[in-house]
Amino acid sequence: MLDLLITRATLPDGRTGMSIAVQDGRIAEVTEGLAAPARETIDANGMLVAPHFVDPHFHMDATLSYGLPRVNQSGTLLEGIALWGELKPLLKAEALIERALAYCDWAVARGLLAIRTHVDTSDPSLLAVDALLEVKRQVAPYIDLQLVAFPQDGVLRSAGGVDNLKRALDKGVDVVGGIPHFERTMADGAASVKLLMEIAAASGKLVDMHCDESDDPLSRHIETLAFESQRLGLQGRVTGSHCTSMHSMDNYYVSKLLPLIAESGVSVIANPLINITLQGRHDTYPRRRGMTRVPELMAAGVNVAFGHDCVMDPWYGMGSGDMLEVAHMGLHVAQMT
Ligand SMILES: [Zn+2]
Repeated sequence: MLDLLITRATLPDGRTGMSIAVQDGRIAEVTEGLAAPARETIDANGMLVAPHFVDPHFHMDATLSYGLPRVNQSGTLLEGIALWGELKPLLKAEALIERALAYCDWAVARGLLAIRTHVDTSDPSLLAVDALLEVKRQVAPYIDLQLVAFPQDGVLRSAGGVDNLKRALDKGVDVVGGIPHFERTMADGAASVKLLMEIAAASGKLVDMHCDESDDPLSRHIETLAFESQRLGLQGRVTGSHCTSMHSMDNYYVSKLLPLIAESGVSVIANPLINITLQGRHDTYPRRRGMTRVPELMAAGVNVAFGHDCVMDPWYGMGSGDMLEVAHMGLHVAQMT
């Protein structure tokens, strides 16, 4: 007897009327119109049955903190960072864990069972790191939670930035993060990428950096990230998140950049809901859409993903952990309709 039989399911590849047989926690058979005895049978009634969603870019330490201690008035990335800076000294581990666990419940309800979350390592107490490591332990039975050490205030710009990040990695954080466009100069931004890539190479960690999250076409840290991936042999282990400045870069430069990213095996994560909300805020009209060149990156052979990034926090007041909402916005902004 089967443990579970799902009938009349529609699959992501378009097949309809499909049965899915589950035995010992595994899918034993997927076939059309199977009738077999099972302990539990679910009639999908033509609805979609799909693997769970994956959110490759999130900030769980800030989620569900909307309005604390105030609301972002300008709607910009920079005011969001300043606002988060006001909130950080007020954070209590217990409240942070409670918010993160509440979000994990929302995620499960939306079929989202794997999340890569950045965690701010700028605070020397590493309160948020310890809190999210605890959340990771608690949700492990039902959510695959991966943590990125994210030096929100700039790994070079903030006092003790490098030491704090290394201590977070030692505590068990999985991925090296960064924010080169927030360092004081372009040169410092490039130096931060090089430094963080060397830390990743030495420690065997993956890399996922916030990269060029601005409308500034001269923000080109993705170039350094790709070059360093090749130099250090980290192909396939490195991700550039956001890369929004690419939307305003010179087309000739991008024609040279795309093959470099592809050859370096660097993945790119766009965050459509947040990119269209935070970018273009310094424009009058015409106002830029603020998302990276998704179809062009894909055509160049680059692995591209969409992330949620924020839900009800200093940067974005909406969202519910629904990756279909993310995909919906992404397809519109990138004109992939
Ligand atoms: Zn982010």
